[in-house]
Amino acid sequence: MTDRLTRNRSKYWPDKTLHEIKLEEPKMDSKLSEDEIVISKPKKLKTSSKLPVSTKAVKSIELPPNWKVIYDNIVQMRKETPAVVDTMGCSHWADKNIDPKVSRFQVLVSLMLSSQTRDEVTYATMVELKKNGLSVEYIDNISTSELEAMINKVGFYRRKAAFIKKTANTLKEVYDGDIPSTLEELIKLPGVGPKMANLTMQEAWNKVTGIAVDTHVHRITNRLKWVKTKTPEQTQAELEAKVPREHWRDFNHLLVGFGQSICRPVKPKCSECLNCTICPSSTNKYLF
Ligand code: SF4
Repeated sequence: MTDRLTRNRSKYWPDKTLHEIKLEEPKMDSKLSEDEIVISKPKKLKTSSKLPVSTKAVKSIELPPNWKVIYDNIVQMRKETPAVVDTMGCSHWADKNIDPKVSRFQVLVSLMLSSQTRDEVTYATMVELKKNGLSVEYIDNISTSELEAMINKVGFYRRKAAFIKKTANTLKEVYDGDIPSTLEELIKLPGVGPKMANLTMQEAWNKVTGIAVDTHVHRITNRLKWVKTKTPEQTQAELEAKVPREHWRDFNHLLVGFGQSICRPVKPKCSECLNCTICPSSTNKYLF
């Protein structure tokens, strides 16, 4: 095990000695004993609220002084370790070289399909939908049952089909066939929550309006003790109050890929993680 850690260290920190790396280790949370530092089983998330949570609603904690070291380590690991999100994530779901209105609608639909669904399944479903010319008009003209049949591999497909149908009709009647260009209006659409709305603003309108927090971002930032929260909405409010804005655009993509490849929900690969000696939830920090 130690040999593997040494190999990983050499791979990612070629210019640092083991001694230098250990110097970056922060103080431990004094309330935790060695035995208490375990990776807990992932808990079922509470149902998302559509309203952003005020930072006053959660107990705020500061980012640890070495948060940027940890962040840069994650950037480095993401360069070295491919993740599903890199080839089948939301930036690959919509067609780019088509009518911008249609492209933006495809972004919104793909994100509506993606909740509680693996990226591979969303990607495959979008490929099938786009074969039929996925547009506001197309969705408005087909029946809900026809749409259900096309998206039945994604989670909660019946509810999503109803939301997508209703959304297409609203876009046709109210927004001239386009999607809304503000976060506030997007969140009012059926089935669109804060994470989806922020990602839609970024992918469809190229505007960064917040940090999109899904289960990966929520889990990892709690493991790192950058936040101490119970819901993704609380995590979003906490992170937006603390993480410099320049990192907001990449934050979701970075941590989703890290969560898919290394900091997995169950059995995270702490022995392969560059943060294994400095992460408060590492299962391997005492091996050095
Ligand atoms: S050490 Fe383990 S729990 Fe901590 S960030 Fe790395 S993989 Fe996740």
